[in-house]
Amino acid sequence: MSIRRRTLLKQGTLLPFTALLASCQSSPTGSSDTRNARVVIIGGGFGGVTAARTLKAGAPDLDVVLIEPRRSYVACPFSNLVVAGLRDIKAQTFGYTAVEAMGVRILHDRALEVDPVARRVTLDSRAELSYDRLIMAPGIELNYDALPGYSRDAANSLPHAWDAGPQTVLLRDQLRALPEGGTVAMAIPDNPYRCPPGPYERASLIAWYLKQHKPRAKLLLLDAKDRFSKQPLFMAAWKTLYGDRVEWLGRSDGAAVIEVDAANRTLITDFDQHQADVVNVIPPQRAAAVARRADLTDRTGWCPIDAATFESSRHRAAHVIGDAAIANAMPKSAFAANAQGRLVALQILRSLNDLPPIDTKLMNTCYSLVSPDYGISVAGVYAADGPLWASQPGSGGASPMDAPDGQRKAEANYARAWFRHITDQVFG
Ligand code: FAD
Repeated sequence: MSIRRRTLLKQGTLLPFTALLASCQSSPTGSSDTRNARVVIIGGGFGGVTAARTLKAGAPDLDVVLIEPRRSYVACPFSNLVVAGLRDIKAQTFGYTAVEAMGVRILHDRALEVDPVARRVTLDSRAELSYDRLIMAPGIELNYDALPGYSRDAANSLPHAWDAGPQTVLLRDQLRALPEGGTVAMAIPDNPYRCPPGPYERASLIAWYLKQHKPRAKLLLLDAKDRFSKQPLFMAAWKTLYGDRVEWLGRSDGAAVIEVDAANRTLITDFDQHQADVVNVIPPQRAAAVARRADLTDRTGWCPIDAATFESSRHRAAHVIGDAAIANAMPKSAFAANAQGRLVALQILRSLNDLPPIDTKLMNTCYSLVSPDYGISVAGVYAADGPLWASQPGSGGASPMDAPDGQRKAEANYARAWFRHITDQVFG
């Protein structure tokens, strides 16, 4: 590697991402390190696909293998609009053609086992793949064990809709069939879980639906915590837009759901039982099973990492990104998974080229729609500090409490633009 390239790479933090990536690119004949290397990625969601594309863009000669059982991906962001009948599920569905066209080898198979010492992945088809680096990006698993009475079967009548697809459509259809004057109840888990503001965006859009189509119906939110993302903004907007249609109860109100009686559509808390016509249970979560079987999770059920490189703190050469990773202050969001996918790819390319990791910062913005024309957001900037992604003091923030209608409308448009942009960047 030339001195000029090394100098450029050392100055990494001062350069834009594209320059950083260009600086890692192999020569036309390929650097021996990337030409003979294979990176296997488990999971073709926002994190895994971003990492695959970034690796290929930085090192066209690198063998990048993406393992994903599904032939199309159904995105969770904006799926709450489907629940409210404001969007078709087809608009949430994306294919892998563009990713494949970049030269990423896609195996539509499921990773069953990983031997992180031998650096080998076994697939459902029994095929085996060795790797030089692994990127584990399998997202979450719903932890049915943590909520008595709730199960995969129970989800057929009391949908979670936390994995977009048929579950989203089921919840939408149940809302449509809700009797006028009926009740919808939601069970919301304690942290950490996928998309911290997601349940409250869903509540908002369900309330919007009720106001339009079932004006006498009510929505009850039973929350296992007392504080939630953008809480003052959500609560003020609910009052203004939906009056007393939405009732939120937190842990201190005894509202944490400890059991589900699926046959009677009832949520059980310490002191009460709440029966409803439509029940949406968002259960506790943990890293997807394959991460656990690969011995990449700790007692929390999530994967500890070295923040700067996303390398597992349990096994070398295995990196974990997206919802499955413990990224502390960084929320489990598509925005974050996308940023992490780019950074992990860059760090792997550097490591394959014998270069030290760069020091950098990541950011996240989560938009939420409180109604189709009313958007709010929260943003943060994070820096790697050992095993931690820590919030940068004095950075980020949320939408103002007293914004005029025009600003809420503008933020709703920014949310739509963000979704178009990220899905185009990842799948387009
Ligand atoms: P995923 O996107 O879940 O991808 C994981 C992939 O791994 C899946 O395709 C899965 O099939 C695959 N996989 C699992 N196991 C295996 C295996 N054994 N072998 C091979 N492949 C496997 N985020 C935002 O930024 N903004 C939003 O507005 C937003 N709204 C949301 C609304 C809702 C209702 C929900 C539920 C989530 C929302 N999110 C939002 C969060 C976002 O969807 C997730 O944070 C994001 O999808 C995480 O990306 P990921 O790549 O880690 O996991």
